Amino acid sequence: MRLVMIGSGYVGLVTGACLADFGHMVSCVDKDASRVETLRRGAMPIYEPGLETIAAHNVRDGRLSFTTDLTGSVKGADAVFIAVGTPSRRGDGHADLSYVYQAAREIAMALQGDTIVVTKSTVPVGTGDEVECIVRETRQGSAFSVVSNPEFLREGSAVQDFKHPDRIVVGVQDERARAVMTEIYRPLFLNKSPILFTSRRSAELIKYASNAFLAMKVTFINEIADLCEKVDADVREVALGLGADNRIGPKFLHPGPGFGGSCFPKDTVALVKTAQDHNSPVRLIETTIAINEVRKRAMARRIIYAAGGNVRGKRIAIFGLTFKPNTDDMREAPSISIIQALQDAGAHVSAYDPKGMDQARELWPDVSFHASPYEAAENASAICILTEWEQFRALDLQRLEKIVAQPVLVDLRNVYSEEEVKRFGFAYSAIGSRSRT
Ligand code: NAD
Repeated sequence: MRLVMIGSGYVGLVTGACLADFGHMVSCVDKDASRVETLRRGAMPIYEPGLETIAAHNVRDGRLSFTTDLTGSVKGADAVFIAVGTPSRRGDGHADLSYVYQAAREIAMALQGDTIVVTKSTVPVGTGDEVECIVRETRQGSAFSVVSNPEFLREGSAVQDFKHPDRIVVGVQDERARAVMTEIYRPLFLNKSPILFTSRRSAELIKYASNAFLAMKVTFINEIADLCEKVDADVREVALGLGADNRIGPKFLHPGPGFGGSCFPKDTVALVKTAQDHNSPVRLIETTIAINEVRKRAMARRIIYAAGGNVRGKRIAIFGLTFKPNTDDMREAPSISIIQALQDAGAHVSAYDPKGMDQARELWPDVSFHASPYEAAENASAICILTEWEQFRALDLQRLEKIVAQPVLVDLRNVYSEEEVKRFGFAYSAIGSRSRT
């Protein structure tokens, strides 16, 4: 099939490359000419494990190409995917749909024949109806369909997630669109990945409900972790016992500094706004957002406390800046609020992240960035593990103890155990146990 991906970001690129790998002819379009130029040179504008290899392979075989030419690509395509950003709208938190609607207008101008327009971006319920109206205004009488096909991949394991999804959700209104979508995903169908056909509106809501539930689950264990600290229980043991219940499951029961990233923060707020507009408030999610917001600055207070209570003029080393490991994405990372709060308290922040420092440099001209965790830790009054990158799981604690000003480790991801850290002379503060210094 001839497919077009409008938007070549984290979702569009991974989806485009993987669909090409299934054997489709895919054209990835982006309006950002420098991004397209980078892709054409064979480089990746984002860091995502495995993406470069799969893209190179499919470019070489002639199934994947990159362009700024939306009109030329859309002509004659079997399906056009909209995979542009839907950030929070400035001021009110609703999803900003301007990129989606702009893409829809541009697609409408270029459409020929009976193309399927597929919304892959995360969009509020009812957006598909609006996209359909936009296309119809320009293409009266043509046979097109608008489908909702939300994406559930996770940055850091996106290629694997796309190829082995828990489910594929497709919201369709007609049989022809259903047949085209079945053909597009046939390789996954054969792999026994469940394809769930729903109404378009249900598909749109499934995506928000899923993200909101996960955000709520992680917020739940964060609060249980706080309680563990007060009552001398250990959240690792509690999470193990809790997650062993099949009705609950062990995933998303790892406490940390609060959820962040390019999806959960904006999608929870957008769901709250949609629900309020329909006079059907989702109070659990409203509370989840409020708890999470407060938590991030509380983490900074925890670091300050561990460092002795006053960090003015002192150096605090931050290991890990991205919202999760294996991505370079800094959008809404908890590190943003935490570093701000540390700086507000007068600390000098030195940082290291394996992939996120290019994006991070744009955020903080006054943070010093280093080539290794050891350089970042020099003379620090506390080290804080903020993102659980693999390389922070085997730090040379003996070496670190010699170079810091004060051996204090604040482990906001519970990577270490108290015993192994204390052996090297460190005071240790983890989440959800009485180990606080
Ligand atoms: P992104 O910001 O990384 O990429 C969006 C791209 O679209 C940009 O490169 C931008 O230049 C391009 N673009 C915008 N308007 C365009 C137009 N009219 N024509 C051509 N290109 C255009 O965004 P992302 O992280 O890939 O997210 C895309 C959507 O997928 C969002 O709705 C997001 O909520 C959803 N989503 C994201 C993830 C994730 O992990 N990032 C996971 C699931 C769903």
